[in-house]
Amino acid sequence: MPLTAKQFQQRIFKWFDKYGRKTLPWQIDITPYRVWVSEIMLQQTQVTTVIPYFEKFMAVFPTVNDLANAHEDKVLELWTGLGYYARARNLHQAAKLVVDEHAGVFPTTVDALQQLPGIGRSTAGAIAAIAMNQRAAILDGNVKRVLSRYHAIDGWPGKSTVAKTLWELAEKLTPDNKLPEYTQAMMDLGATVCTRSQPRCDDCPLQSHCCAARQGNPQDYPGKKPKKSLPVKQRYLLMLCNEQGEILLEKRPAKGIWGGLWSFPECPLTDDPKQWCQDQFSANIIAIDHWECFRHTFSHYHLEITPVKILVTEWQSKPMAGAQQVWYDAEQVQQRGLAAPVKKLLDNLL
Ligand code: SF4
Repeated sequence: MPLTAKQFQQRIFKWFDKYGRKTLPWQIDITPYRVWVSEIMLQQTQVTTVIPYFEKFMAVFPTVNDLANAHEDKVLELWTGLGYYARARNLHQAAKLVVDEHAGVFPTTVDALQQLPGIGRSTAGAIAAIAMNQRAAILDGNVKRVLSRYHAIDGWPGKSTVAKTLWELAEKLTPDNKLPEYTQAMMDLGATVCTRSQPRCDDCPLQSHCCAARQGNPQDYPGKKPKKSLPVKQRYLLMLCNEQGEILLEKRPAKGIWGGLWSFPECPLTDDPKQWCQDQFSANIIAIDHWECFRHTFSHYHLEITPVKILVTEWQSKPMAGAQQVWYDAEQVQQRGLAAPVKKLLDNLL
């Protein structure tokens, strides 16, 4: 017999009182803005990684107005290293909408919150529950794991039928009061006890009624995403350096990989980098050095990158369609959002 919703909540509250996290930066001075930023950062990212990013972000953008008025480059710069940059661009867009269309005040319903870019049902639920004490369910990765194990729900949660079942359970188990505590407790239980590879069932308040623990196979839940092999794309990244020791960076288009970030010019592997630079930039090349190829994996393909360091003297760049270019002077503190592989290459160049 599963626990009733009331019994389930009582166990969760009791566990949270003793073991839950209560001093995370976004649990202090709770506002919808702070909860929202933390929830977006925490998607796909561990708490310990997020904390310094969150603190820096809040120091620079303490309010939604500050974020809305910021330059996109500054937002992306503060996101550099967190990955999944669409999150940062959506955050910026959503802040502008909150300021322009809601007078700087966050909407107060889950439905209205979900209208903002980058806010899905679970994030909207977390903001409503934690910052507004509303009865709203969440189903982030941690909660999916706890519930699919507790009820032994087969199948990958990305599948709509599985997601529907999990949402129904999440809704049913959500209490009528103490929403911030319950929501944080479920996230904490998944993050610290019901972990992906080594769940500590003996320390779990749900163990006596957990189906997966009884079956002895918690790791089988949640079901895995069906595997498909990712295509491989290959590119040269051209690290052009001038006689002043500056490096050419281009701002990438808003859509697509590393959207809005600064990167090196790139050309297909079928082209000759030297010829390509001469054609594109009318550059006079004095030295060229191919670095070792490495692989960077995105959610939908692998990118095999061959970095090429190119020393140039003359420079008569033709403006490229929509491209913004800058000679990057490492001595100066520049406010540029950089994709992680680009940052790494820059560090190796300097
Ligand atoms: Fe997860 Fe084990 Fe707790 Fe079940 S008993 S919810 S598998 S930690």
